[in-house]
Amino acid sequence: MPAESREEAYGRALGRVLAHELYHVFAKTINHGSCGVGKSKFTVEELLSVSLQFDAGESLALRTSETHTALERAGILKGTSSFSAEHF
Ligand SMILES: [Zn+2]
Repeated sequence: MPAESREEAYGRALGRVLAHELYHVFAKTINHGSCGVGKSKFTVEELLSVSLQFDAGESLALRTSETHTALERAGILKGTSSFSAEHF
């Protein structure tokens, strides 16, 4: 893999791990899902795939979280109705 591609892959994988950890913080949960960003473990393919989404339960937990409410009140999440890895 060329150096530029390795950097991009590393950044994408790191972003996915960060999204996972922020999910725990914002949703105030230690639980893991069976698919999506909330899984307890990721394969290399998942870390490097074009898209990795939150599942419906994770998305609901984030939309109903205190953090989401606070960000909406601050005008930071205007009209945001779903979360996906692209948000991170
Ligand atoms: Zn976790």
